[in-house]
Amino acid sequence: MPEGPSVRKFHHLVSPFVGQEVVKTGGSSKKLNPASFQSLWLQDTQVHGKKLFLRFDPDEEFGSLGNISLPESLEKGERKEEASDQKQASGPSSQKISHPSSQSLELVAPRGDHGLERLRGDTPAEGAERWLQVSFGLFGSIWVNEFSRAKKANKRGDWRDPIPRLVLYFGGGGFLAFYNCQMSWSSSPVVRPTSDILSEKFDRGQALEALGQEQPVCYTLLDQRYFSGLGNIIKNEALYRAGIHPLSLGSLLSPQHLEALVDHAVEFSADWLQGKFQGKQQHTQIYQKEQCPGGHRVMKEAFGPPGGFQRLTWWCPQCQPRLPPDGQAQVQIS
Ligand SMILES: [Zn+2]
Repeated sequence: MPEGPSVRKFHHLVSPFVGQEVVKTGGSSKKLNPASFQSLWLQDTQVHGKKLFLRFDPDEEFGSLGNISLPESLEKGERKEEASDQKQASGPSSQKISHPSSQSLELVAPRGDHGLERLRGDTPAEGAERWLQVSFGLFGSIWVNEFSRAKKANKRGDWRDPIPRLVLYFGGGGFLAFYNCQMSWSSSPVVRPTSDILSEKFDRGQALEALGQEQPVCYTLLDQRYFSGLGNIIKNEALYRAGIHPLSLGSLLSPQHLEALVDHAVEFSADWLQGKFQGKQQHTQIYQKEQCPGGHRVMKEAFGPPGGFQRLTWWCPQCQPRLPPDGQAQVQIS
């Protein structure tokens, strides 16, 4: 699934729609009835780790956002198109698909992540569950004012465009299309910015303490309780840049090593996020590489806690020597 920086970018794309009313809906989601979003107001959006949250209320009064100016079309209450069935909504002929100056971006999810959580819930309970929680799948994305198009034909030779799970048309004239994501209603986002690697409130002390546990650091880095938003790409890159073998036990690493690891995780994530806003691809040094920048041959293996999710891990045995050499034996015994 997309890592923290991608989800932050989605959050950035959605933010301009806060304060607007949903005037038409579409999408293939069976779990959430897309039509149930009709006439709801998007009142807030938050990002926490790898999850995006959108708050919907039945009318604008609920929001305490004082300075939202409504588009004129809403003030007149006019509605050009009838709320329609899902098919029509996902491809209205009156709407040009391509806008040369469109701000929409396809954000391709990094490969290799597949830890979708099971989500529950279907419709918002009265007065309570107004936060739509969105978790993105492997190729999850949000498009703005544009639909994702097929990039190649399927086996039969048909060009089938991806089908959005949810499409929300807003009073201001724009729309959002959500692809490959799981959505559910919840009462409130779990707000723990202290564990979000991209939050200003990220708690380094807590992160260092977690990393210092007697377990391989490559497991701890993916623990969303301490490193929310950190995924497999960031894990591999931070370990390489810090010169730490993925299976090193945190308890055997020096405080300087642990500090360096946290620094590289945060720095790589921040650079990635910044690059996204500049339309740049994030450059990786070790992830999915055959050689490290030093020209050494890179190793690849799946590592994960016993009985847990095993994740492909790339490392350079020369740049990331194992310290101490018998660390692995201890891991296996415990
Ligand atoms: Zn190397």
